[in-house]
Amino acid sequence: MQIERIVSNHLDSNVFVVTKDSIAIIVDAGAEVDKIKPFLRDKKVEGIFLTHGHYDHAMFALQYAKEFGCKIFASANIMKTLANPEINCSDGTFEIEDFSSFSFIKGNQELTLGKITVTAFETKGHSECSMCFLVDGNLFTGDTLFRQGMGRTDLIGGNAEDLYNSLAKIDSIAFEKLYCGHGDSSFKGEQLLNIKACRRYLKALSLRTEHPLT
Ligand SMILES: [Zn+2]
Repeated sequence: MQIERIVSNHLDSNVFVVTKDSIAIIVDAGAEVDKIKPFLRDKKVEGIFLTHGHYDHAMFALQYAKEFGCKIFASANIMKTLANPEINCSDGTFEIEDFSSFSFIKGNQELTLGKITVTAFETKGHSECSMCFLVDGNLFTGDTLFRQGMGRTDLIGGNAEDLYNSLAKIDSIAFEKLYCGHGDSSFKGEQLLNIKACRRYLKALSLRTEHPLT
């Protein structure tokens, strides 16, 4: 399996092209189709997976689906985000209303496309539609978890308690390498400390509120 990272011009979000033999999947869609194509060579794209619906991760998803003739896989919660420029943070420049290219997936659902098996995990917190995808020990976390730190929770649909719980879920996943929505990749060993620090921070903040996290 080969994983290649393409950094977009839209908030430097990452797009990942995952290939195995003659098959490819794409994680996130924040870079123009022409930027992705050279990484696909002669592979057949079997699916596009969206970690969440913020514009810098999803804005070219329909173009990818059309160009490569495949489905877009995401949480059903993504519809609300994609259909509303305020929620997808695009400042009025991007929205999707036609979801006929989408196939909605649930947490813990396993999907096999050619020789690539993807397990989806629901990881709300940064957004209501956030998902992580596990492929052969590689975990794609979008904006839920970064190499250092975690995603923000102050945008519409963000929720600190959900992120606190989602980070615990990620901690329990048997992954080896982490691929984030922005910035460099990481390893489980490094993440054991990062996740602990992020959860401690979220809990400390909550202690100042009427509903402390437990
Ligand atoms: Zn985001």
